[in-house]
Amino acid sequence: MLSPAQTELSWRIQFAARPLPPLGAVDVVQAGLRVGLRAVEGVREQGLRTGPVLCCLVHSLVHIPVEADTAYRWHAPQTLCRPGAWECSTDKQRSRYSRCAGVWLLPADMNHGSTDSDALFHRLSMTRSAGARNWGVRHGS
Ligand SMILES: [Zn+2]
Repeated sequence: MLSPAQTELSWRIQFAARPLPPLGAVDVVQAGLRVGLRAVEGVREQGLRTGPVLCCLVHSLVHIPVEADTAYRWHAPQTLCRPGAWECSTDKQRSRYSRCAGVWLLPADMNHGSTDSDALFHRLSMTRSAGARNWGVRHGS
């Protein structure tokens, strides 16, 4: 099982949030680092379109570019989809005023500027419910 900081797929790493990689027009999905990264890897393992991922190491959040104009239909719990939003939106009081520290994960064979929005939505839901089941087992026993 992957822990938050592990990945089994091949990525190139850019140790800065800027400059942005070539993306085109995108909306940006924000999710928790662990859940979001697993979801993207799931999409990639399915062989579906996967773009770069911006990980914020301060707030433990990921920003995942998806096709533009999909934000309006994004209602996954605990995720946020906004056009062009690369800074973390967080209500955690202690970290609100900490500046983001972004690291880009770029697919080694990157030829897409965004991740398939439908596939990501599906994967986020699956990952989240699997996590909820695991948590239920762990804490229920
Ligand atoms: Zn941040």
